[in-house]
Parts: sequence; structure tokens; C-alpha cells
Amino acid sequence: MRLTRPAALLATLATLATAAAGLTIAAAPASARAARGGGNVLENSGIIGETPAPQVIYLNRHATKASTVSRMLAADAKELHRLGFNIRYAGYGTPKAAEGRIRVTSGGAGCVGDGGQSGAVTYPRWQYLPGGKAYMYDARVIMCPAFFTRYPSWELAALLKHELGHALGLDHENSKYDGKYQMMRWTVTPGITDYQAGDLNGLRWLARNASLVKSLVAPVGRFERASWSRQGNQWDLHVTGWAVLANYPTAQVKITVTRDGQVLATAPTRVLRRDVNKARKVTGDHGFSLTPGVLAKGTHSYCVTATSPVNKAAKANFGCTKITV
Ligand SMILES: [Zn+2]
Repeated sequence: MRLTRPAALLATLATLATAAAGLTIAAAPASARAARGGGNVLENSGIIGETPAPQVIYLNRHATKASTVSRMLAADAKELHRLGFNIRYAGYGTPKAAEGRIRVTSGGAGCVGDGGQSGAVTYPRWQYLPGGKAYMYDARVIMCPAFFTRYPSWELAALLKHELGHALGLDHENSKYDGKYQMMRWTVTPGITDYQAGDLNGLRWLARNASLVKSLVAPVGRFERASWSRQGNQWDLHVTGWAVLANYPTAQVKITVTRDGQVLATAPTRVLRRDVNKARKVTGDHGFSLTPGVLAKGTHSYCVTATSPVNKAAKANFGCTKITV
């Protein structure tokens, strides 16, 4: 039986906020490149780890053989937790997609290709970090109901572990490692009913790097407005906006204003923005209202960037405006 996963459907997540354009390229710290060991393949070579958000598995209560699958998922979540994942099984539920959610169900969409022999399809999604690395964001697992009547329960258990491996960022490893086939082989293998040495190398590494991912996620926010006011025979520039570091929700983000690439001013977000705090469910000061300097004669480009106080590689360009005096 094949466990297929349509590679073409591996989706990259649309950028969540306004900080998409012009992300600064910065090398990930050395720990991102720490050897993860052999016997596993990542879904995208840029993946460095899991989301720092809690990972929660939900099962659709109407899925085929839900009570059996529920028991298996509960055990799998415990095993993954022991491997270092901040993961738990929430039981039955059909919540919307969100960071950290792994949603399991059954349906015809899982029975694609190969004459309906596919066991399941998993749609993992990842999100990109500044510098082009990526982290696992969420996943959807769709089991094929035809599977349940044709195959024994050990295969169902193996199938779920295999699909969870995809949900967490592993692709197929079809070669033997340490003399054995892996759970992430393209097909389930008799005798391979749990994660093997190569699978474990990959899973532990992905789990371990969640803390690195946490520090590398860039601020989100907005350069809302540029204005100016007369001071004698000059014009003072004012810039306003907000910035939030989702994984450090009370941290003040460092804002930098440049003119034609030259730094005019740098300051933390010190302004209380109740609207931002309410919308993003954070506390603390996340607004900025700066007077970084005077307008220079001629036409110049003024830009705002936001940098994490936790890791300077976590940086976002909030955009630019051209002003002519
Ligand atoms: Zn697979």
C-alpha cells in the first residue's frame, strides 16, 4: 500500500502580516546548522524546526474508526512529547487552521491516485523566516476510508505515525538507515511499527530547534504614516506605526528610520497602542511616533525597519516613502 502525498500540493503559507517585503537576509545562527543526523529527509531543505507555538492535534469525531484513531493519536502525541515536541492531543474537534494545529480527518480527498490505494494525504505548511529558512506551521491529515476495511490495525497505527512525521516536517526516506527501513519510507513496512533511528534523528532535531525558530520569527507591524511640520526654515519629519514580536508579546521592538539607506534614528516602540494590543491580543507598548530628523532638500526615500530585541536576524522592512522638498 502506498502512503502518498501530493508534493505539488505542499503549500507554503501566505505571509501573515505586513512585514513581507524586503526581508533582510541574515545567516541563521550556528545552532540552526547543527547536525541532525542521518536517516531522514526534510520536506523543504530550508526547514530548521517546528513552530514555537504549542502543537495540538485534533481529530474529526466523524472520521472513520474515530475511537480507534483517537486512542492511537493520544499515544502518538505522548511519544512525540517525550521526543521533545511541545505537543498534545486535544481529542475530537474541527477547529480552523491555525499555527500549531494538526487536524486529522478522513475522506475521499485522501484516496487520490494509485487506484484508491493511498492510505492518507498530509498537507503540511511552513512559514518562511528572514533569510529564507522555514519552520513548520500547521498541517492537515486526511485518511482514506478505504484503508480501514482492507488493512490490519498495525498498518493503521503505522500510517498515523508516518503522516504525523509529514505533519512535523519529514519527507520520505526510502533507503535503509542503521540497517533498517524507516517509518518515513514511502510505504509501510512489516515490522516497522514505530519511529526508527533515522526518523528519530529528524524528529528530535525539528523539536529541539523550536526555540531557535522562536527567536528568528520577524516582527510584524506597519509603517502607517509619514508627516512633517515646519520648524523655522526646516521641516521636521514624523513617522508613526506599530510593531509586535508575536513570540515575545511584551517586548519592545527596535524601530529604525533611514533616509536613502542612512540611519536617521533608532528607538524602541514606546507608545501604548490599545487598538494594536486588542487586535493582536498582546500587552505592553507597541506603537512608535518618532521625529527622526529634518527633511533633506530634493527627493529622498525614507524607510522603516523593525528588529527583534531578542535576535537581530529577526528583522522586517515595513516599507518606504519618497518625500520631495
Ligand atoms: Zn508519506
